[in-house]
Amino acid sequence: MSVGPRINLNLNVRGLPNSATVAINERCNQLIADGRQVYKLGLGQSPFPVPESVVEALRQNAHQKDYLPVKGLRALREAVAGYHSRRADIVRTGDDVLIGPGSKELMFLLQMVFYGDLVIPTPAWVSYAPQARIIGRQVRMVQTLRENDWHLQPERLAELCAEDPSRPRILILNYPANPTGRSYSRAELEALADVAMANNVVLLSDEIYGELHHEGNHASIAPFYPEGTIISSGLSKWCGAGGWRLGTFLFPKRMRWLLDAMASAASETFTSTSAPIQHAAIRAFEGGPDIERYLLDERRVLAGLGRWSALALQAAGAHCPAPHGAFYLFPDFEAHREALAARGILDAPALCERLLEDTGVAILPGVEFGRPRTELTARLAYVNFDGEAALAELAAQDDPSAPVDEDFLRRRCGETLTAIERICEWVQG
Ligand code: PLP
Repeated sequence: MSVGPRINLNLNVRGLPNSATVAINERCNQLIADGRQVYKLGLGQSPFPVPESVVEALRQNAHQKDYLPVKGLRALREAVAGYHSRRADIVRTGDDVLIGPGSKELMFLLQMVFYGDLVIPTPAWVSYAPQARIIGRQVRMVQTLRENDWHLQPERLAELCAEDPSRPRILILNYPANPTGRSYSRAELEALADVAMANNVVLLSDEIYGELHHEGNHASIAPFYPEGTIISSGLSKWCGAGGWRLGTFLFPKRMRWLLDAMASAASETFTSTSAPIQHAAIRAFEGGPDIERYLLDERRVLAGLGRWSALALQAAGAHCPAPHGAFYLFPDFEAHREALAARGILDAPALCERLLEDTGVAILPGVEFGRPRTELTARLAYVNFDGEAALAELAAQDDPSAPVDEDFLRRRCGETLTAIERICEWVQG
């Protein structure tokens, strides 16, 4: 038997490419090394620094060196439960919280220990489906419509459940959404919760962008289906700390068996999340006036920039509603199909490739988010600006409720504006 290169790769991993967002970042870095000007709207990383008080908490805890309990530091689990009680009006205790090295890892563990189909409304974040594939779970991608704001309709969920009513399922709902920036209304969440509850579907509510709702108005589905919803969150987006790798799951009491099973799997894999990071995260989840001000200022920048960008893309003929939260837009260039076809551009990957070659602007094709290849959609992440400088300017202002104006955006996010203008000019030929 040969043990040469690749022969013994697990079949679920064989042929699996690197995550699209990581790949576009590497491609951009190569172009920059070749001397090209590149506008990086591909990778969705927070442009903002970690709040100073949280960085200070990390400094104070650099000496923490012991392995921590597998479910997480008790004080952090309590702080996370308290945070959710304040934010989403769902009262839980630290016993209902699981800490992990990023919510992505917790999602992977969930799929490892829960036997059932994964239901993913598309467009969806790039990693849900590959995780299911690695583990060998069935994935049901449910296409949504632009006319419905790319939202899963309750009737569609009911139809899917009716195909095999007793089949175990996890439905992932992500809002504010990567890649669309749009969120569900309370009424929509309630209607989906009713169908999920009636069919015993486990809801994984990915609320990692909840704090980055631009109006500070995020609503969770959990209060509508408390016994069946797991809330996923973490430090990566609102706290600007993606590289710190800390994610959280909040479970219903009725699902303690699932939390315990995930903890058993964690104990045999990552053991526990980094000790200094967990200690510092307590400060972030306990919050306080400085964190509130930081969040307000982040939202002001993202709201102004998201709105400006969406309006510019709309004026250039794209379908692109203004975002509710996060830092993504998902324009649909269907209106330009004929003109693009005349330039030899027939699908979304060709659109993104040519855009990058002609203008230096890097965005990701909709097919990476589970959309049909020929649909002319793409995701752009409006994050290529100096978030530290933008926050510093806003922190010096007295009125944290005042929206930012175009002068501010030109001064602080000029490169993003230029990138959007380049897309608009390019698509119009
Ligand atoms: N969920 C969504 C929708 C994301 O966009 C991301 C990161 O890009 C994650 C989850 C994973 O976040 P982390 O593993 O850093 O907690």
